[in-house]
Amino acid sequence: MILDCHLHYRKYPDHLPGGDANAMVRSAKAMGQTEAQLRQRADRSIERLLREMKESGTDKGIALGLKALTTNGSDIPNEDIAEAVKPHAGKLYWGAAVVLTDASAPVEAEHCIKNLGAVAIGEVGPMYEHVRLDDPRCFRVYEVARSYDVPVMIHAGIVGASMAGLKNGGDLSALDEVCLNFPELKVILCHFGHPYFHEATDLMAKHANLYSDISGVPGRARKPSAGVNAPPVFYPFAHAYEPFLIYFSTPARNHNKLLWATDVSVPKEHLEGFRNINPGLKQMGYPTIPEDRMEKILHENWKPVFTKIKA
Ligand SMILES: [Zn+2]
Repeated sequence: MILDCHLHYRKYPDHLPGGDANAMVRSAKAMGQTEAQLRQRADRSIERLLREMKESGTDKGIALGLKALTTNGSDIPNEDIAEAVKPHAGKLYWGAAVVLTDASAPVEAEHCIKNLGAVAIGEVGPMYEHVRLDDPRCFRVYEVARSYDVPVMIHAGIVGASMAGLKNGGDLSALDEVCLNFPELKVILCHFGHPYFHEATDLMAKHANLYSDISGVPGRARKPSAGVNAPPVFYPFAHAYEPFLIYFSTPARNHNKLLWATDVSVPKEHLEGFRNINPGLKQMGYPTIPEDRMEKILHENWKPVFTKIKA
């Protein structure tokens, strides 16, 4: 059973009230895209999510919220997501986004988990909020998630939105502090911590309850022949193949902590990229990843994390 643990439901323009703060809106303007073309990218209806899941053979998915008005332009009310997934119970689940530093965040997080059925807190991001993850104000939300045994999904590392700073997101020592302070809290680092794959890998080896989703990573390996033989050679290698080599060659007690996720990629293409990792590595003369490990990323690794979801 394939679970995609990081999808996004979003109504355009209602859920992007920040306008130009959104990288997508800005790039559409820069490229001279029409409003219809922008809508096609930005609007991610439930019908679209379900269609794309079907095309990729995905069984279940988790739609995440995002509240990053000034840095990303997104502000998706949690009630909207809860309402949208409701008719698809058992197929679609959801994660509640909060602004970690808001005084009301712990109450909202608890309401979403307890009354609205959220199975995760996320997506949250230190760079979206200009705050370090180990700021004590954020601890109240981690405590709620821990007490309900739901994971917190954190986008740390870098983010495309130019208003969001690397100062907070890029320092994964703050993530280390979260795991040290909340050893029982399940934490999912989104996008494998891109571009800090080494740091993400070593932190996962160190902390029993730290996981990473791999959204965005294997998509770049979609065309191994082009990636290997045609320029730019190093882009897909460094951003798609190498992270898997780093992860599986680093000593760890548990090598089953990468989770399948596609974020805003086309799931079918993302899966194509994932299936190309081993052929691509082989073509380049590198060792390949044991196939059973790769299969577990798709089918198994989510199970100890999302205990509220039944296979
Ligand atoms: Zn995301």
